[in-house]
Amino acid sequence: MDDKAKILVVDDERLNLNVLSDLLRQDYKVILAKNANQALDRINAEYPPDIILLDVVMPEMDGYTLLHKIKEQEATKNIPVIFITALDSKQNEAKGLEMGAVDYIRKPFHPSIVKARVKNHLTIARQRKLLEGLANLDGLTEMPNRRSFEIAVEKEWRRCLRSGDLISLAMLDVDCFKQFNDNYGHTAGDDALKKVADVLSSEMKRPADLAARYGGEEFVILLPETDAEGAKFAVERICKAVEDLCVPHGFSSAGQYLTVSIGGVTVTPSISSKPLDMTVGADSMLYEAKRRGRNMVLWTDLS
Ligand code: GH3
Ligand code: MG
Ligand code: MG
Repeated sequence: MDDKAKILVVDDERLNLNVLSDLLRQDYKVILAKNANQALDRINAEYPPDIILLDVVMPEMDGYTLLHKIKEQEATKNIPVIFITALDSKQNEAKGLEMGAVDYIRKPFHPSIVKARVKNHLTIARQRKLLEGLANLDGLTEMPNRRSFEIAVEKEWRRCLRSGDLISLAMLDVDCFKQFNDNYGHTAGDDALKKVADVLSSEMKRPADLAARYGGEEFVILLPETDAEGAKFAVERICKAVEDLCVPHGFSSAGQYLTVSIGGVTVTPSISSKPLDMTVGADSMLYEAKRRGRNMVLWTDLS
């Protein structure tokens, strides 16, 4: 497996490209671009670079302009950029750093300093990614947490508002879970929540589908571009799959195994409504499912 970090070197001088490539290729996968447009193609490729070494003075588009473009795009704005340039004024350095470059190295450079700085910035970038990942995950179930759900639902809402597509959303709540905890213990309760989370995660079929832990024993399922019929079908499969885990629950009013109740709603986003309306709608269906005896899915189609 090739797990070397990928470095993009951008410079209009062939000689500079060769020197940096020779310096770094033993430790990294080095890719080269001889102008800013070629660099943009490489940056927007399926596997973007982990770090960019960027010359400032280049014909057509200079390094500052390229940096600006990188910072403008959500997908690329966190890729660290190090300027490597013969421009040695303090103003140029300040400008580069203020625009968001992580470092500024003057030519002629000392090879081991370039290596050390690249290594340090790659470490910081890796840690940042790791932290970002952790901030979006629920600690117990390791599935997306409420924060990731809220980010995703805003994004999908806006996307469907533009396209006129439907969105479906379901709230899921474990049945008689207080009784489960009280009788089998909190650790068994935690294990049961992990099992429910695994069912949910494995039932998400499309890239934009998202299941998240909303809090406590409540989960939320977001199904963009899915109509009520399709969403209800998917969610009924989840309801059944949880029951089929056959986790004994001798203190439930809904059956002999651990079960869940699910309320869902399908809407067409409009400018006069907001994502929160979906959560409220799904919640009231969930409440009704509880009232009618639990272990069931109730849906309302408002699209
Ligand atoms: P209903 O069927 O109406 O939903 O009843 P319920 O007992 O599930 O609902 P209630 O809201 O009364 O109780 C929820 C329980 O979920 C209480 C709480 O201790 C438990 N719970 C919430 N989060 C966790 C958790 O992270 N781990 C464990 N083990 N239990 C949790
Ligand atoms: Mg609850
Ligand atoms: Mg409950």
